[in-house]
Order: sequence, then structure tokens, then C-alpha cells
Amino acid sequence: MNILILGGGGREHALAWAVLQNPKCDRLIVAPGNAGIARIAECASFDIENGAATVAFVEENAIDFVIVGPEAPLAAGVADRLRDAGVLVFGPSLEAARLEASKGFTKEICDAAGAPTAGYARFTEAAPAKEYIRAEGAPIVVKADGLAAGKGVIVAMDVDTALAAIDDMFGGEFGAAGAEVVIEEFMEGEEASFFVLCDGETVLPIGTAQDHKRVGEGDTGPNTGGMGAYSPAPVMTDAVTEKALEEIVKPTMAEMARRGAPYQGVLYVGLMIKDGQPRLVEYNVRFGDPECQVLMMRLGAQALDLMQAAAEGRLAGMRVNWAEDHAMTVVLAARGYPGAYEKGSEIRGLDSLPETSEEMCFHAGTVEKDGRILANGGRVLNVTARGDSLAAARARAYAMADAIDWPEGFYRRDIGWRALGEV
Ligand code: ATP
Repeated sequence: MNILILGGGGREHALAWAVLQNPKCDRLIVAPGNAGIARIAECASFDIENGAATVAFVEENAIDFVIVGPEAPLAAGVADRLRDAGVLVFGPSLEAARLEASKGFTKEICDAAGAPTAGYARFTEAAPAKEYIRAEGAPIVVKADGLAAGKGVIVAMDVDTALAAIDDMFGGEFGAAGAEVVIEEFMEGEEASFFVLCDGETVLPIGTAQDHKRVGEGDTGPNTGGMGAYSPAPVMTDAVTEKALEEIVKPTMAEMARRGAPYQGVLYVGLMIKDGQPRLVEYNVRFGDPECQVLMMRLGAQALDLMQAAAEGRLAGMRVNWAEDHAMTVVLAARGYPGAYEKGSEIRGLDSLPETSEEMCFHAGTVEKDGRILANGGRVLNVTARGDSLAAARARAYAMADAIDWPEGFYRRDIGWRALGEV
């Protein structure tokens, strides 16, 4: 089977690594890929947000299966173009991808599906939005409706912050994404992510994870794309997982199918859990990054069979072979991230790192020049390891991080602190 993965981050390196373990894979191309991916697969360069260009590449290279990593190609309708051309693709349609692209739409689906989530109201004008905030009081959460790269959500602990967020959003700070605003009840609890595959009808859970969004140790400082993650999430007990599946995910998938927009691909279910009750925070229509890295490390070769079954509508007969294991990924980022940072510094020591089914250093923002690996982004490397316990996985991940010689980079030393009881 010839496989094309779209994307070029740590998530796609992990997907490529898992896919290559499956003997079904004859040839793997990743577009655009990165320096780490180039060591294990072919990389190609074309506009992955352009449906016609992607279809042309697939036809020229006799690709049998396309796996879409990031949300941008999905939001550009690339999965639809591929399906129209008769190509097998893992990833939702543009219509189904609205579960991530519009927070208002997701709320509407939750209402129709009876899925527990925060109470809310939607606004297209500032005055009534402000009136609502004054009436509700703080804490309160203000969200731009559309995609804003994780920056369009303000968790306001006081009314003035919430009112200022309304001015920013309707003032055009988030462009079209802020033309509509969703104001939500503040939910207390512990956050976790739940991942399921769906083939339009059948839902198959493939794991849980928790990530660390803040840049600083103790979960302090500005938000980032994620500084580390681990799987499974202890807060996702069997009972909580069952509730999330039956009360939130399955009714949502059924509602999407009822509306003629069946969901096919991976669904990232962001949850807030309090007193054993999960409520939906958000859906993403792709794997999280860095959560994908820990999921792939735990799933290994079967990930390809599962994604293919989802794309072919065969999930009903599938099961996941679970090992009683844990995985952790630690993100190495360029100094200054998530603010301004430099590109181009050299990273040494990568060749000495173990590369096994239990330890891998996935590349995110790297580039190779004259045989040297250079930093080429904010989040640069993801050292990922598996173990019989979370503590064992963590020790292995940090042993790799410590062996990397990159003075211009940094990483948090406390990934997994909550799960490991280090309060
Ligand atoms: P991302 O994709 O980067 O996680 P996003 O822009 O899609 O973010 P959300 O996931 O909806 O936005 O919100 C971002 C974060 O804000 C959540 O992970 C959560 O910590 C917090 N948050 C969002 N909604 C609520 C809520 N109703 N109550 C409490 N916290 C919330």
C-alpha cells in the first residue's frame, strides 16, 4: 500500500513512525515533512491546502491511502476533493470538520444531541454580548466562533476582562473568526482528552491523554501549542470514559449522520471532568499535537489498520489491542517560545538517542542543512517514551531530553506532575 501523510510536525512524524511499522505499508510519502521525517520516509513539497494539487500528486504517485494530519487541509476541503476523486482518505469532510471550525455549530450539535457541555449564548454584536456578561458575572469564558490557532479563547476571571475580550473580538482582532462570539459558563474540574475513531457510524475509542498547555513549570505562564503530554489520563477512569462515550461522543456522531454529514476520521474530545461527570469543552477534528505522539507510541503498527478501517467504513469489526502501558512526550522548544525566538541554531546529540518501539525523538520544527539538524520553529523536538508505569516512561523521556545538546532550547521538567501525584 502506498501511503501519503499530509503535514510536517511532531504529530506527522509519530504517524509516519507508526505507519512504517505495519508491513502493509510499501511506500510512505509525507508532505511537507521535516528533517526527522526525512530520515524514515520520502518527503514531498506541494500545497497541501490545495485540493487539486493534492489529487494530482496522489494520481502521479499511485497513492492508495491519504492520512490528513493538521486541520488546515480539512478546513480547506482537501479530504472532500480526494474522496470526490475516488481516493481513500482518513479525515472528515468540510461539513463534518465544522465541529472544530465553528464553536457555535458545536454548541448547536450538543443541544440537539443532549450532550453535557457548558451553558452558553451566541452573539454577533457587542452590545447584547456585554449585557449578557454583566448579567452573568465572572468567571466567564469568551470565545471567537472560528479557528484562531488556540488564541481565540479568553477565560475571564473578572467582568472587565470579559468585556475587553468582546471589544477585541468584534474589533477584528481575530478577523472573520471573531464575527460571531460564543460566551460560555466557566466550568471547573480537571481537563483531559479522549480520542475516538469514527467511520461515519461506528465509534472506537483509541486512548486518553492529558497535556500541559502553559510554558512554565507548575502550569504557569503563557499558553503554548502544548509542552508535553502523557497517556492514559488517570482522571479518565473506565466509568468516566463510558459516560463520555455514551453521553457525548455517540450522540454527537449520530446527530452528524442524521444531518447528512457523517464524521469519518479521528475525533479529539476535549473534556472537563468534575465529580466523575465529563462535560465537553471542545472538539478537534484531528489528532492533538503532542497527544498524537503518545497515542502512536502506545498503538504502534495497528494504528494504520485502525485508520484504514475508519476510512473504509469497517470499524464495527475492529478492536484495539491494548497493552497495560504508559507513554509520555516532552517538548523541546526554542528559547523565547511562545514569544519571539530564533531559528537556525544547531541541535547536536540526536544520533546517540535510542530509536526503539519504546523510545523515539520525534521532530516538529527542524530542518537539515549540510548534514546538520537546525531548529526551524517554536516547538522543535518531542522526546517520547513508553514504560510499564508513567514514572518509567517519564524517566526514559527525560534521559533522552538530557542527552540532547541544544543550548538554545528548553523544556519543562515537570510533565505529568499531576498524574504522578507531585502536587
Ligand atoms: P485549543 O484548540 O488550543 O485547545 P481552542 O481555541 O479550540 O483551543 P477551547 O479548547 O475551546 O479553545 O478552549 C481553550 C482552553 O480554555 C481549554 O482547554 C480550557 O482550558 C479553557 N476553557 C474553554 N472553555 C472553558 C469553559 N467553559 N470553562 C472553563 N475553561 C474553559
